Amino acid sequence: MADKIDGRAVAAQIEDETAAKVEAFAARNGQAPGLAVVLVGNDPASEVYVAHKIKKSAKVGIRSYEHRLPAETSQDDLLTLITRLNIDPNVHGILVQVPLPAHIEEGAVLGAINPAKDVDGFCPVNVGRLSTGTGGLVPCTPLGVMKLLDTVIDDLTGLDAVVIGKSNIVGKPIAMLLLEREATVTVTHIETKNLPDICRKADIIIAAAGAPRLVKGYWVKEGAVIIDVGITRIKGESGKDKLVGDVAFDEVQHAKAVTPVPGGVGPMTIACLLANTVQAAEALEKK
Ligand code: NAD
Repeated sequence: MADKIDGRAVAAQIEDETAAKVEAFAARNGQAPGLAVVLVGNDPASEVYVAHKIKKSAKVGIRSYEHRLPAETSQDDLLTLITRLNIDPNVHGILVQVPLPAHIEEGAVLGAINPAKDVDGFCPVNVGRLSTGTGGLVPCTPLGVMKLLDTVIDDLTGLDAVVIGKSNIVGKPIAMLLLEREATVTVTHIETKNLPDICRKADIIIAAAGAPRLVKGYWVKEGAVIIDVGITRIKGESGKDKLVGDVAFDEVQHAKAVTPVPGGVGPMTIACLLANTVQAAEALEKK
């Protein structure tokens, strides 16, 4: 039986460590780190994510400032808000919930966030730092993936890793983090030929495609480690919605370890957002 990597437990530990850092920061500075959360429009999924982020922030003692803007907000008005938050000394992290309404250019908005406060790690400066291995804030889900890997593998040097998915927010940053740790990385995507063969050679498989049960048992080498980032909501047999990952979990029990969905990568994303907010606050404190 493969070990089930318990993302909830690892996330809870990160949250405890973050809460302790928040308390120490508040003792030094007279107030806790602040996270500004910007939501434009009322996309129901975004509403849920934002509410969850704010609730979790409060749990570790981070002050959050919620900015809810109507869907018809102009790009200029949004950029004016970002400029204000960039220089607000009470705000240490800025998160703009995506997707943004179609009339707003996402790149222009994310690129306007002060890199020192860019707790999602999506602005070009932090993307550049990640790809050159020169620090900066790392996107939350990829950071969470690495922390889960660290619970089962001590040293990634020379290991063969396959990343399925090449998005800017998940696949590519994960590939950069794996390279930084000296793994040999193959990044694959929807047009990749012979994906099962490529995966079968891998010591590590990171599945981030959003394709339910894509990774079958015969794709996986004995003793491999699998991190399943994919989350797709489907109708279960009972008619109720259920979440499924990109990995056929029941078929990969010959792996060394695998993350479940739900309860694997999911809880890590918010835990890493909170950790990034404290990291940003501590770095700004030193300036
Ligand atoms: P995306 O749609 O932007 O990118 C998907 C990538 O997977 C693309 O590069 C595409 O080429 C590749 N792909 C799709 N189907 C494939 C297939 N059949 N074979 C090979 N490659 C395939 O998605 P994303 O934003 O990177 O998210 C990927 C998945 O991760 C989604 O299920 C998303 O819900 C999930 N996700 C989870 C978290 C979390 O907190 N756990 C965070 C972000 C994204």
